[in-house]
Amino acid sequence: MQILTTPAAMRHWRLSGSGSLGFVPTMGYLHDGHLALVQRSIAENLRTVVSIFVNPLQFAPGEDFERYPRDEVRDLALLRDAGVDAVYLPSGADMYPEGFQTYAEVGAISERLEGEHRPGHFRGVTTIVLKLLNAVGPDRAYFGRKDAQQLRVIQRMVRDLDLGVEIVPCDIVRERDGLALSSRNVYLSPEERAAATVIHRALEKARSTFELGERRAPKLRTLVQSTIAREPLANVEYVSLADDITLEELETTVERPALLSVVVRFGHTRLLDNLELR
Ligand code: AMP
Repeated sequence: MQILTTPAAMRHWRLSGSGSLGFVPTMGYLHDGHLALVQRSIAENLRTVVSIFVNPLQFAPGEDFERYPRDEVRDLALLRDAGVDAVYLPSGADMYPEGFQTYAEVGAISERLEGEHRPGHFRGVTTIVLKLLNAVGPDRAYFGRKDAQQLRVIQRMVRDLDLGVEIVPCDIVRERDGLALSSRNVYLSPEERAAATVIHRALEKARSTFELGERRAPKLRTLVQSTIAREPLANVEYVSLADDITLEELETTVERPALLSVVVRFGHTRLLDNLELR
């Protein structure tokens, strides 16, 4: 497994081989959710590159950039065992050299939901993803549905800027009790970890109510909100039921595919989850 630490080395490696190239961008501290993306890429491509970079540009001041969990030794061992061909591990200085002043920004779709609650977040995400795609040059790039808005924002950027890479959405991997795997789950105390199962329960309750015929968007949002609110350790930051494509909030009824997404805080830990209603 090759370890490449600069954009030039990354590009050189890509050009030194041939055949389809799959790419999985991550911020490391890998779990089975990341590894599901990696396995899919390995199955669908001749070569697979995984990047690990905790991107300072997508964290606002006061967020968890400094304390974001990191374990490079373990990550590299997992990727080697999985059969990854190369790992791209760029440095902060290479990604954002002095004088850096060029950004990729997607419009309206990145201003809602996470964009509203984390101003500047998606500008950081799209800028780093564009840089990574430029250096790696993959045929396919794999993204989790866990970060549903991120996936849609990146699909938009790829179409709008003619990036010519196929974006492959991958299903959410969950713990047995329904909690979506996330690197941030390590922040949770045992009590918070137990309480966090309420998120998936609330989403599933909305899904079954929807399947029984409920189409009123405010009702479905309230159902999720009130289910989570019954858990004392949970603080709902937002519940959104939005058009699956534009991410515009549905004011009346669900008539087209919709994205139900929530952000819930447990102490200082911010957890994100969603499901698609169709
Ligand atoms: P991150 O390291 O959190 O930036 O995530 C890297 C990629 O893994 C993103 O495309 C995420 O959507 C994806 N991912 C993270 N957690 C999960 C999960 N539980 N299931 C599926 N994909 C995931």
